[in-house]
Amino acid sequence: MRSYSAVTRLPLSTIWEGFLDLVFPRVCIGCGRAPGPGPLKFICPQCRMGLHYIDPPFCRDCGYPYFGRVDSGRTCPNCVQLEPCFSAGRSLILHRGVGARIVIELKYHNGLFLRDDIRWIAGRARLDTYLADATLIPVPLHPRKMRERGFNQSAFLARIFAGAVSRAQMNDILVRDTDTSTQTRLSRDDRRRNVKNAFAIRPGITFSRGMNCVLVDDVYTTGATLNECARVLLKAGAEDVRILTLAHG
Ligand SMILES: [Zn+2]
Ligand SMILES: [Zn+2]
Repeated sequence: MRSYSAVTRLPLSTIWEGFLDLVFPRVCIGCGRAPGPGPLKFICPQCRMGLHYIDPPFCRDCGYPYFGRVDSGRTCPNCVQLEPCFSAGRSLILHRGVGARIVIELKYHNGLFLRDDIRWIAGRARLDTYLADATLIPVPLHPRKMRERGFNQSAFLARIFAGAVSRAQMNDILVRDTDTSTQTRLSRDDRRRNVKNAFAIRPGITFSRGMNCVLVDDVYTTGATLNECARVLLKAGAEDVRILTLAHG
């Protein structure tokens, strides 16, 4: 139940946010100006025009959008090459412009303040059917990186996505055994080799029949990491693994 101020009849949360805006003025992560009114708290209306939401049609395996007319149910060239062992994929925004900025804020600048904006973007994507009865499994960070960064952005996203639908939950089933140094500069084949055998199942985990596994990561780049995680889950007894990423590269 919302609490209200007796004096102003405004929700206390609104008053508190107004107070925070006075003390710590919000700025748009795209341009640094005041974001103004709108559904997103940290992206101004102008920068919002550069945010590319992914709507159908898109690749059924990884969620990459098709621009223009296409036959439905197609697989993109990247997935033809990857031969993914995950069965379907969704992604919410393109990893470009302010979309890439969201990922940087999350990954390197402790962008926890973007929780409400990401929740809004997830709500817009109507994930109810895709995530019905799903167990959302974040791609894990190696413990050393976890210590450096302080939090795992994939787990943060998995929690937000699970909260966006009524029958889904987050479960960090996977662990990272090998510290795969940053993959940003690696080629497609090197990425694949780099993540091979980097993941394992947390001890004591068993997969119930019909468990609906959805792997969650911040960005889909080549799919190598997600594919390796899916392989580990399937080998351990998961019947089916799908993927969900915030952004697609
Ligand atoms: Zn802006
Ligand atoms: Zn694809």
